[in-house]
Amino acid sequence: MADRRLLMIPGPIEFEPDVLAAMGERTRSHLDPAFIEQFGSALERSRKVFLASSDSQPFVIAGSGTLAMDMAIANLVSEGDAALCVDTGYFSARMADILGRWGARVQSVGGKLGEAPSTDEIVAAIKAHRPKVVTVTHVDTSTGVRTDVESIARVAREHEALVVVDGVCSVGGEVLRQEAWGVDVALTASQKALGTPPGLAVLVVSPRAMARAKSKKVASVYLDFAQWLPVMEAYEARKPFYFATPAVNLVAALDVSLGKLLAEGMEARFARHQQMANAFRAAWRAMELELLPREGLAANTLSAVYYPEGVDATFPGRVSGIVIAGGLHPEARTKYFRVGHMGAVSANDVVATVSAIERALGRRGEGVAAAHASLLTK
Ligand code: PMP
Repeated sequence: MADRRLLMIPGPIEFEPDVLAAMGERTRSHLDPAFIEQFGSALERSRKVFLASSDSQPFVIAGSGTLAMDMAIANLVSEGDAALCVDTGYFSARMADILGRWGARVQSVGGKLGEAPSTDEIVAAIKAHRPKVVTVTHVDTSTGVRTDVESIARVAREHEALVVVDGVCSVGGEVLRQEAWGVDVALTASQKALGTPPGLAVLVVSPRAMARAKSKKVASVYLDFAQWLPVMEAYEARKPFYFATPAVNLVAALDVSLGKLLAEGMEARFARHQQMANAFRAAWRAMELELLPREGLAANTLSAVYYPEGVDATFPGRVSGIVIAGGLHPEARTKYFRVGHMGAVSANDVVATVSAIERALGRRGEGVAAAHASLLTK
């Protein structure tokens, strides 16, 4: 039988057939009216998925999540600017690296495995370092830790810092309200909870951040908002504009996928992710497996779970029919596994995944029973 393994890693995820069908259509000219409509619509829908203000600026660019991170920082940070990185794992460390490469004086706060710094610690760091930009990883995919973006954005704004949120493992799954929370740049990549194959970076930028970016000369052509702004504005106005060839098929697929997110409704989608995560957590508890994130910090988009005694890092390869991921954080890479539960993830996927893990561990089904029970409660 063809490869029917279910992809349950934290990105790329399983994609819906109609999204893949849009990918597989004949490639249109980037100036074709039908493509102009798809691109314009994808931009409008991005703003809605991010719950961003109508005057925020979406950018959809060919590239991965790392490009989105690089782009955000390239446009906001100048040589010598102070920046604060809220550090919850491997991807926060990548953001600190990017900040440093664009010339920022970077201070990190946090950095303890499985933990997130408290708002008080962040306020103290802001007062000591006076950053112009605060970066925060909404969900660090290496640790499964979710940060309190709402509180961090509030304290950063109170101290007049711009707030950049790496939402690669959150946007479309975790609650993120860009406008209500005052987030200046929220960024993600197509292959996670946005439900589109890898290859697109998506950023939504507040007017405040656009104003900061306008005063800056960016030492990269491809990353410069100023190069892309006329493109995004034109397509949203349903007009063509060329700067660099857009990823035509991916944009078409993204538009279909964002349409599905909005048809489900963002609040319903957040609630479904919460429900699926609760079911996984009930299973891990019943199986007496320990989570990597401290109590209360576990994300809804993935689980990071320590192997039990006697199980080593070859374990993911022994789980039959389901693809799960190993560890990523350098301090504990071989000690835990990760399961993605975002996008189109269903109750059946949860039960199948828990069952396969349980069988690979030689367990009898406590986890499945607990997941099942959790899924039956509203
Ligand atoms: N940030 C986070 C939180 C991520 O999970 C990832 C990808 N796993 C990235 C950034 C980088 O994205 P990409 O791999 O698409 O470059």
